[in-house]
Amino acid sequence: MSDLDHLRNAIRDIPDFPKPGIIFKDITPILANPTLFKKAVHLMAETVGDQKIDKIVGIEARGFIFGSALAHHMGAGFVPIRKQGKLPGDTYKTSYTLEYGAAMIELRQDAIHPGEKALLVDDLLATGGTVAAAIQLLDQLETDLIGIAVLVELGFLKGREKLANQTIFSILQY
Ligand code: AMP
Repeated sequence: MSDLDHLRNAIRDIPDFPKPGIIFKDITPILANPTLFKKAVHLMAETVGDQKIDKIVGIEARGFIFGSALAHHMGAGFVPIRKQGKLPGDTYKTSYTLEYGAAMIELRQDAIHPGEKALLVDDLLATGGTVAAAIQLLDQLETDLIGIAVLVELGFLKGREKLANQTIFSILQY
């Protein structure tokens, strides 16, 4: 079996979570397995390739897990985009809808210097609402966004179309 097959087999489908009609992709079995977690992070780094990246920007909460591992692996800094009310100091905020709800996210105004190169990271791309909101925040900081890296892409929700002018790196597509 290929590495991709091992990763795909480890992801658990949880029907009707967190709402009826949603099939939740549970990636925690990958995190719990040291070989698979390492493989997932290496594949994400490999797909992005050898590019200069100043900051990896992770979206709370599962984007922190892959984002910080990638930052460590790629020798970049890590910046959190957090849910409402968690970040101290001056922040930019935006609200958005995702596959199963609505939320508000925030980014510190001094998190990234204008022109710094950033890679946005989350575990999964569904409708693209979360990533689009994160990009709105990064635009306010005049970040040079080189792309978006996710482990899982739910292609049938067409997040890629919503983010048409962005480079998207995904490892497993459904
Ligand atoms: P979206 O904004 O619709 O692209 O949703 C992406 C965000 O919601 C990511 O942070 C995912 O972790 C989470 N998410 C959305 N749909 C699912 C799903 N089917 N399984 C697991 N996580 C999901």
